[in-house]
Amino acid sequence: MVLAPHPDDDIIGAGGVIALHLAAGANLTVVYLTDGEATVALRGSPQCARRTVRLREARTALAKLGTAKTECLHLEDGRLNSALTALSCQVAFLLDTYKPQIIYLPFFGDAHPDHRAVTWALSRIKWTAQSDVTVACYEIWSPQPANIIVDITDVAAKKFAALMEHRTALTSLNYLPYVKSLNRYRAMHRDSWRYAEAFLVLALKEYICLARQCHP
Ligand SMILES: [Zn+2]
Repeated sequence: MVLAPHPDDDIIGAGGVIALHLAAGANLTVVYLTDGEATVALRGSPQCARRTVRLREARTALAKLGTAKTECLHLEDGRLNSALTALSCQVAFLLDTYKPQIIYLPFFGDAHPDHRAVTWALSRIKWTAQSDVTVACYEIWSPQPANIIVDITDVAAKKFAALMEHRTALTSLNYLPYVKSLNRYRAMHRDSWRYAEAFLVLALKEYICLARQCHP
C-alpha cells in the first residue's frame, strides 16, 4: 500500500518501485490522502474541477506503470496536520481492509507538512494485527536517510512518462528534471544502474520510535 498525501507523490518518490511491484504481480493500492485541490495551478477553478482534475491525472499516470487499485480520502489539501484524527482513523480502516505487507509513506523529515503528517497519523493508530508491518519511506521534497536503494533503470522511462501526466502540478513547477536528477544521484557508484530510488525501510514500531526520538 502506498500512502500519498497528494496525487503525484506516489510517482515522484516510488514510481519505479511501484512499476516493479506491479510487473511482479503485486496487489498494490495507492491511497491519495487529498485530491490535491490546493495546487497553485487550480486557483480560481470551480471546486468540482479542483477536486477531480489531479485525481484523474494521477490515475492516468499510475496506469502507465501497470494495474493498481486507488482510493482517495479527500482530506483537505495543505491541512493534514489539522486532520490527524480523521486521517489515522481512515488509514487504520484501510490497513485493516487491505492488510498490506509494506506501507510506503513519506519520511517524517520531508519538507512538506502534509507529507510529515502521515507519520504522526500512523503513530496514533492502535496497532494489532498489522503491528509487524514494514514501512518504506520514499523521497518527495527532501533527500532522506536511506538503507535500501532500488535499481529502477529498466522502468525509469515508464516512471518519467507517468510523471508527465501530472500536467496540472507541472504547470506550477516542472519538477521532472529534479526527480530525474535525484534518481540519477541515487544510482551513483552502481556501474550498471542509470536510475535508482532510495527508501528508509524499517519495522513500523522502529520507525515510529525513531520519529518520536527525533521530534519528541
Ligand atoms: Zn505531496
